[in-house]
Amino acid sequence: MLNLNERAQAQFEKPISELSNAEIYKVLLDLVQEKTNAMPANQGKRKLYYISAEFLIGKLLSNNLLNLGLYDEVAAELKANGTSLAEVEEAEAEPSLGNGGLGRLAACFLDSIATLGLNGDGVGLNYHFGLFRQYFENNEQSYEPDEWLDHPTWLNKSDISYQVPFGKFTLNSTLYEINVPGYNQGTINKLRLFDLDSVNPEIIEEGSIDFDKTDIKENLTLFLYPDDSDRNGNLLRIYQQYFMVSNAAQLAIQEAIERGSNIHDLADYVVIQINDTHPTFVIPELIRLLTTVHGIDFDEAVEITQNVVAFTNHTILAEALEKWPLSDIHEVVPEIAEIIVALDERVDAAFPGNAAVAIIDKRDTVHMASIAIHYGFSINGVAALHTEILKNNELNHFYEIYPEKFSNKTNGITFRRWLMASNPELSQFIDDRIGTRWHEDADLTDLLAFENDEEALLDLLRIKENNKEALADHLHRTRGIVIDRHSIIDVQIKRIHEYKRQQMLALYIIYKYHQIKAGHIPATPITIIFGGKAAPAYTIAKDIIHLILALSELIENDLDVAPYLKVVFVDNYNVSEAEYLIPAANISEQISLASKEASGTGNMKFMLNGALTIMTWDGANVEIAEHVGEENIYPFGKSSEEIVDLYANNAYDPQYYYKQERIKPLVDFIISDELAAYGIPERLHRLYKDITNKDYFMALIDLEEFIDVKEKVYSEYEDRLDWTRRSLINIANAGFFSADRTIEEYNKDIWHLEN
Ligand SMILES: *Cc1c(COP(=O)(O)O)cnc(C)c1O
Repeated sequence: MLNLNERAQAQFEKPISELSNAEIYKVLLDLVQEKTNAMPANQGKRKLYYISAEFLIGKLLSNNLLNLGLYDEVAAELKANGTSLAEVEEAEAEPSLGNGGLGRLAACFLDSIATLGLNGDGVGLNYHFGLFRQYFENNEQSYEPDEWLDHPTWLNKSDISYQVPFGKFTLNSTLYEINVPGYNQGTINKLRLFDLDSVNPEIIEEGSIDFDKTDIKENLTLFLYPDDSDRNGNLLRIYQQYFMVSNAAQLAIQEAIERGSNIHDLADYVVIQINDTHPTFVIPELIRLLTTVHGIDFDEAVEITQNVVAFTNHTILAEALEKWPLSDIHEVVPEIAEIIVALDERVDAAFPGNAAVAIIDKRDTVHMASIAIHYGFSINGVAALHTEILKNNELNHFYEIYPEKFSNKTNGITFRRWLMASNPELSQFIDDRIGTRWHEDADLTDLLAFENDEEALLDLLRIKENNKEALADHLHRTRGIVIDRHSIIDVQIKRIHEYKRQQMLALYIIYKYHQIKAGHIPATPITIIFGGKAAPAYTIAKDIIHLILALSELIENDLDVAPYLKVVFVDNYNVSEAEYLIPAANISEQISLASKEASGTGNMKFMLNGALTIMTWDGANVEIAEHVGEENIYPFGKSSEEIVDLYANNAYDPQYYYKQERIKPLVDFIISDELAAYGIPERLHRLYKDITNKDYFMALIDLEEFIDVKEKVYSEYEDRLDWTRRSLINIANAGFFSADRTIEEYNKDIWHLEN
């Protein structure tokens, strides 16, 4: 018995039934902290340090209760006291220590690493505000700092501190830790977040997210991805990255020594996985520490480092492969700049004249991915197609010299959060039919036996309807938004980026609007839901948000159309919102331009929760289609080979597509008088011009096929039982996309941790 009432009395001198949600949250937080603080850490000679600029962990209460085996008991006690975990969790602040898929992947990985009993911690920064909080005003994106640290948190302050020697000053770090209990393991790992005591939120200008970028002592860990559109912003990012990895490297070395390493054998004790290029400075930093602090000579230090560090590539978008001017690195940490120059010289000597694999280019710009590939022992892509594109195109020059370093690790998601905690009814449905072994071994294929079981299908249909009710209530309670609970729920939630093609779905909405105006009424009303943030400096992405918000208002005010079509843009999309949206979705929009989405993980969450996917042949969509079968998914659009060729030959002409009879009126509507009534002419004209003249991510190329496939999907939704049968087939085949499978592959091929 947990005796929550005794705890409530001791803490607040009241029984649970008289506490506010915030007070109950505090009681449960303390309970979980007490339990996990008493648990032993996973052990093993070799330890993994998963370094990432982002950990999008979401709220932790439900997930932790679940992993500790306390979920049912707490839920029952709360129910007996007239409340629920969902209500109590509203009092928990979600730390936005991440930006999107990459950060969420890191969080799912921590859950799986702990659940598999592996010795591995996450290492990152304790941003005081994380990413900005998004809200909408006048149909535009606005920003607020997101003050998660003002609330009770899961952070434990440790007494670990290191000196980080920047060129102009040295700063002392403070380490905060969050316990990560594995599912049913009785052990924990940790997420270790470094910070500075001197950081000062007062320097943020009132009513904005601006601050003095030069005041490093006071600003270092204020925000994730501070604006880098000027040099001071660039320098701040380098300060952040170096601070993160210097601490991580010192921690890894110190703990290795404590476990018995003599430093020469460091690679037997430590493996560092760097999540994208942001932590790449860990390579020169390890070399610096080994040579200056531990007395190792330079050649051996390079060799040791090379056996310790492994790199995950997350993108082939050229603008996202990080490059820093050597002079900026020199300004922040001269010693690191000098080591990078020495590393570059070695590459030059080994591969003379091979400019494509150089670390420092002719303009004295440092290519971070090049450091990671030359001086790490492993590089992996995150979906089969992505890894092939890396090998054959983007990183082909590296693949030719180091074929043995390349491998694929298709991303995954933790089913504990994305099914058990966020969709308890579906989870119960599965338990009732195939037992609970899937909680730790994510094979759901036994569900296929129920494909033609009408009772099971009706049950599944009812669960989806209940989740839609819960979403409708949530949107109403939190935002005053009213949606039709019986409409088809069609969802695109992810960062706003032209390559993800939210603008293509917006053009489809214009098509559907005109169809309904012309009397073609949908059999079932349609609700299309968007969610996602645009980078503050990304103008076209903000224009796309504006277009969608203006369309939403136009449709809302059109009484001919409003009963049949509704467009919702959920502000401040985050993990908690995803946990409401995904269980309720009928349709998952995965419509990126082929070759551009490295993997995607949102696609996996929807599949697992029984949505049917409209997809392009991109990222892990390709593998989802393989697992589920083409009859149970809706593919469309050009292949990645075709797209790669178009780019290579500079052969895409948006005007050709714009002039097509079905397309022109849709694009022209962006600058129509009707829409102008709800829009800002400057934004709409800029977007129109961009789509008609440039359309770099080719929204128009697949638009006609997209319209056709969407019409087909909506019409097939009318056969609810067959739809639900295919929904079941999707769920049953989702097992491959468990992060446990992904982590087992990392461990077998890269980390080699014993347990
Ligand atoms: C899963 C997830 C993502 C990644 O979504 P993609 O569709 O793969 O881009 C981004 N943000 C949040 C909050 C998520 O949960």
